[in-house]
Amino acid sequence: MLQKNNSAVLHGVCDLRYETTLVETPSDDEVLIRVKSCGICGSDIDRVFKKGTYHFPTVIGHEFSGEVVFDCENKLFGKRVAVFPLIPCFKCESCKNENYATCENYDYYGSRRDGGMTEYIAVKRWNLLLLPDGLSFDEGAMCEPVSVARHAALKLNIKNGDNVFITGAGPIGLIVGQWAKLFGASEVYYKDIDERKINFAEKLGFCEYKKGVRIDCALEGTGFSDALKSCLEAVSPRKRVVFMGNPAGEINLSQQTYWHILRKELNVCGTWNSLFGTNENDWKESLLAMAEGKIDVKPLITHKFALSQCNTAFEMMKNKTEFFNKVMLNMGDEK
Ligand SMILES: [Zn+2]
Ligand SMILES: [Zn+2]
Repeated sequence: MLQKNNSAVLHGVCDLRYETTLVETPSDDEVLIRVKSCGICGSDIDRVFKKGTYHFPTVIGHEFSGEVVFDCENKLFGKRVAVFPLIPCFKCESCKNENYATCENYDYYGSRRDGGMTEYIAVKRWNLLLLPDGLSFDEGAMCEPVSVARHAALKLNIKNGDNVFITGAGPIGLIVGQWAKLFGASEVYYKDIDERKINFAEKLGFCEYKKGVRIDCALEGTGFSDALKSCLEAVSPRKRVVFMGNPAGEINLSQQTYWHILRKELNVCGTWNSLFGTNENDWKESLLAMAEGKIDVKPLITHKFALSQCNTAFEMMKNKTEFFNKVMLNMGDEK
């Protein structure tokens, strides 16, 4: 078996190192994957520079795809796969109902255990999805944000001709916009404090939000109080607001803002992660939609770095020295 591996290892907050690691030996319920692409998530920026992971050292990265290079059952060798990064306990009430995202005792590639910013990783068979032909590894690595976005977009309960309002024009916000159109939305309007993100959204066929536009469904995608306020203000009476953005701190609403929920009788709901069940499965639907060209994530990938350049990529994203949307790390020969 192979021995040499290179990984992006987080040794502590602000201490990410590209270094040589060992190749894990897969157990019977795992296969060994040669990782090809791993996306950098906004949450990874927080992990590296602010919050850290559950323990150190940890190989980070939860948005990854690759090729199976070892399978003791010899069924999956050579297959191209994407990875659902959550490992459920399979025992709690949520797990019994296949609601793995709300599992009480889950494990997670790239935060609670070693993840995908590496050349080789052992991954449980249960977490694998086969990539349809024609889908690139980069697109496979985008299956996580596409699935999270699909899950959120479904919660918007879009009717044909609805106008959708989204705060935050990052990768997930823009993919929710694509799903929204697929689900029948007429227009998708964005608000973002970064004007470059709005310009980027407009290039993809979306609109900048202007006060007075009729809004039927709103998605809060930033986790900031001001953005939530914008959503509650923008949406029409008796319509829907979905909370998706993970807050970095307290969320505060003034009495005036809170009244929007009451006086407009708004339907408010939350969304968290995605479904990976036998019947309802955002991941399978996401791969299918990408393979059929209904969801196109390729234009969102603004930067590609070799894994060895992980620190350059993270610094660029933290300091926002360049405009970026999705930043992809590539291992080995895919460029
Ligand atoms: Zn992510
Ligand atoms: Zn569970």
